[in-house]
Amino acid sequence: MQEIEVIRSARRTRTVQAKIVDGKVQVRIPARMSKAEEEKAVAEIVAKLHRRTRSSASSDDDLIARAHRLNEQVLEGKATVNSVRWVSNQNSRWGSCTIATAEIRISDRLREVPDYVLDSVLVHELTHTFISGHGPEFWEWANKTPLAERAKGYLEALQRWG
Ligand SMILES: [Zn+2]
Repeated sequence: MQEIEVIRSARRTRTVQAKIVDGKVQVRIPARMSKAEEEKAVAEIVAKLHRRTRSSASSDDDLIARAHRLNEQVLEGKATVNSVRWVSNQNSRWGSCTIATAEIRISDRLREVPDYVLDSVLVHELTHTFISGHGPEFWEWANKTPLAERAKGYLEALQRWG
């Protein structure tokens, strides 16, 4: 799964451009950039691109409302929506769920992602309220999120480039 595609352009002299094409970040850079310059430029422009696409859920109430909607639309009402909140102390995981109490925590690093990416994480955690572990049955539900594959790619890119 190729998520960030770097295109070197001989015609380009200074500017770096990024846009999302088919869920993939396409970055155009000048052909003469060194590998080190490329990495820096790509990281910067991808971060900038992420800032432009902030999620529309900004409060815990927004998260809960979204979780209810996703439960109905994607999970056929099977999930338990109890507590869903943003947390800032969760850097290695995008979300987590305490199954016994159906408490869902979402990393606030996801405040700056497009809605479909946040939704994919919410559906993942909501699915855990009725299926623990990551077996085939789990993924059957979790992958019902619209644009599930695209969201996974986005999260991988975010993990890699910040
Ligand atoms: Zn999980």
